[in-house]
Amino acid sequence: MVNMETIVSLCKRRGFIFPSSDIYGGFASTWDYGPLGAELKRNVKNAWWRAVAQERDDIVGLDAAILMAPQVWVASGHVEQFTDPMVDCKQCQHRFRADQVGERCPDCGGELTEARRFNMMFKTFVGPVEDDAAVAYLRPETAQGIFVNYDNVQTTMRKKLPFGIAQIGKAFRNEITPGNFTFRTREFEQMEIEYFVKPGTDEEWHRRWIDERFDWYTRFGMRRDNLQLREHAPDELAHYARSCYDVEYQFPMGWSELEGIANRTDYDLRKHTEHSNKDLSYFDPETEERYFPYVIEPSGGVDRTVLAFIIDAYHQEQVRKEKRTVLRFHRALAPIKVAVLPLLRNRPELVQKARDLADRLRPDMMTMYDDTASIGRLYRRQDEIGTLFCVTVDVDSLDDDQATIRERDSMEQIRLPLADIPAYLMEQLRW
Ligand SMILES: [Zn+2]
Repeated sequence: MVNMETIVSLCKRRGFIFPSSDIYGGFASTWDYGPLGAELKRNVKNAWWRAVAQERDDIVGLDAAILMAPQVWVASGHVEQFTDPMVDCKQCQHRFRADQVGERCPDCGGELTEARRFNMMFKTFVGPVEDDAAVAYLRPETAQGIFVNYDNVQTTMRKKLPFGIAQIGKAFRNEITPGNFTFRTREFEQMEIEYFVKPGTDEEWHRRWIDERFDWYTRFGMRRDNLQLREHAPDELAHYARSCYDVEYQFPMGWSELEGIANRTDYDLRKHTEHSNKDLSYFDPETEERYFPYVIEPSGGVDRTVLAFIIDAYHQEQVRKEKRTVLRFHRALAPIKVAVLPLLRNRPELVQKARDLADRLRPDMMTMYDDTASIGRLYRRQDEIGTLFCVTVDVDSLDDDQATIRERDSMEQIRLPLADIPAYLMEQLRW
């Protein structure tokens, strides 16, 4: 398996992911997506959104604010319970998670304090006065934005149970031990569904969502062997969850979570009903009963999913005498779909033909025009960023108005009339 250093280096060299604030030496565990990373991330989110919000009749989308009324986090239990037990070194003042150290400081061997609860929510102040009344939190999960909008969505969209609300957005956790590149960061993006069901059907829906979400990763090309399901032990469960399964990926640092699929029961809607005095129970028109829906929550990390897709796509192979690095992204995810390359850059009429073709492709697919190196080098460059097709415009193109299309994985080449190439590629890109 590829090691993380190779991935980090490729990501920086090819414009996928840069250290944040790079010119200032970076900022701890914070990363910026470069041009190709931004495309890849958008494609991952679109693939998720299409699978859950577009292809299904029972899920609608939402885009809630990051800042919310502070009472939300009291009701949700995060103010009270979203904590890690921490210890401080009396000598060097370094802080550690109590469950990750022994008797002494791992940095200097100094004596440690008693464990104290440390809340992982980021605090800020709203308005010009920095006092307790102005405290707000950066949301530590996107889920609460869904719960507080449950009634608005249900009534405006006339939804009957079971139905879900999907959301993609940033969340923030003041993690004490972030790391492993973009796997664990303090600012991160979530793709979450809250799926509301009738109590008693929750376990059945939980199983269905576990299968559904596992299959999503393989649908977009992740290798089955690199995925597994793991059930949470009772002492791992979040304060709101009855049971939870993780979809895990075999990262270079070991099996780690991509997505958790939890049964949150009716915990959140009940808590918000108590704290807001707004009744969030559901009236079932069929049975004429009133009850609090149970919630199944598939909650995935965008950043770690992007990272897993990069690692999974990474291949090195021997082609004749040369080593080829290729990212075998699924066609839905590849940042660049087609590169148009003129074989000779000193022939203006040839360059013009290539540029014209690129211009015709651009409205329909991410297209890159490149004439800055020899064709062999241009191919290697495109392979390394996972570009699906390279179209080469050569001297013969001037006579026959055709060009050569090279497919990334097979490296097979076909020749087609320039006029037919956009439709041909569109057909290849369907998913
Ligand atoms: Zn110390």
